[in-house]
Amino acid sequence: MTSPVVIIGTGLAGYNLAREFRKLDADTPLLLITADDGRSYSKPMLSTGFAKHKDADGLCMAEPGAMAEQLKAEIRTHTRISGIDPGHKRLWIGEEAVQYRDLVLALGAQTVQVPIEGDGAEQVFPINDLEDYARFRAAAAGKRRVLLLGAGLIGCEFANDLTLGGYQCDVVAPCEQVMPTLLHPAAAKAVQAGLEALGVRFHLGPVLTRLQRSGDGLEAHLSDGRTIACDLVVSAVGLRPRTELAAAAGLQVNRGVVVDRQLRTSHANIFALGDCAEVEGINLLYVMPLMACARALAQTLVGNPAGVNYGPMPVTVKTPACPLVVSPAPMGREGTWQVEGQGSDLKVLCYSADGQLLGYALTGSAVLEKLALNRQLPPLMA
Ligand code: FAD
Repeated sequence: MTSPVVIIGTGLAGYNLAREFRKLDADTPLLLITADDGRSYSKPMLSTGFAKHKDADGLCMAEPGAMAEQLKAEIRTHTRISGIDPGHKRLWIGEEAVQYRDLVLALGAQTVQVPIEGDGAEQVFPINDLEDYARFRAAAAGKRRVLLLGAGLIGCEFANDLTLGGYQCDVVAPCEQVMPTLLHPAAAKAVQAGLEALGVRFHLGPVLTRLQRSGDGLEAHLSDGRTIACDLVVSAVGLRPRTELAAAAGLQVNRGVVVDRQLRTSHANIFALGDCAEVEGINLLYVMPLMACARALAQTLVGNPAGVNYGPMPVTVKTPACPLVVSPAPMGREGTWQVEGQGSDLKVLCYSADGQLLGYALTGSAVLEKLALNRQLPPLMA
């Protein structure tokens, strides 16, 4: 019997690749393996659950059984891969060996865990998949005050959504502005002001040093001596590509699993895409790049080797309190910034020395200029 094409992971990367592959090849056996429950969902929607009045079940788009039928694939859920043996084209699930024709790693990224002292540590919730979200929603029922760790894109989105859901949100982060790695300070100020006007309270600079039970709730102690009363804590301090399996199998890893333009790792027959992959030095944790990778890789897997191209990849940040679209400059391209507009309506543009638009951040009503500006941006990877 022919060994299957095996995809590890049923997030947006794994399921989109399977869909693209099936458009081109209806017959090759396809096996998807996932450590989670295999439900199909759109991860970006996790930070819109309260605004859309959807809990984890409401955000689920299809059960794994329906996905298996749709994709003409076998899907093994709650199954964790423990090792890969590239030399023999097989992988390990505990003691069980599974042969593959081609293997695709769509392992995603894991939340960075910060060690937290105190007896309240089990009330800290990372939210990085549907199961995390279900646990958080169950714990948050009947509660009122959420402390958010992290003021990056995901922290700000959760702050906006939880506030819309009726929670008092305090955001603690050891940085001077929101989204420090993504935003020019002027745009960051506009977003922070929009969220503050909604009711979010920011504590930028200190870190959480101790989380202590106190009556029915918790007391969060910050490094600057302040104390915040809360009921539970959401941790959004960052994500790290899952590279351990690939590294243990001897594949080249850097920040992510290193792949070339055809999404091929340092071993023939093993590919990677999505949050876990670093494509020609670029590791993007967004949906648009993984969709481009899924289309290209499907072609390669059916015998038409195809390289991926990244055009401009603007990200719409889901902070309706201050609409924001951001398109970071391509890696390694320095530019100078120009800020236009005022208040919450800002156009922050990054230009190269020869006048080429490299990137932008648009806030408030300026987001309407997104399409026109996108046409002027260089591709992230031509
Ligand atoms: P994942 O969805 O993490 O899937 C990884 C899969 O690998 C899972 O099925 C997991 O079970 C499986 N797995 C891992 N290890 C093993 C193992 N050892 N064995 C078996 N299976 C394993 N991006 C945007 O572009 N726009 C947005 O607005 C946006 N909003 C976001 C909001 C939130 C709250 C979050 C968390 C992310 C957001 N993102 C957004 C990022 C985007 O959602 C991700 O880039 C994308 O979903 C990643 O998909 P993935 O399939 O690579 O990874």
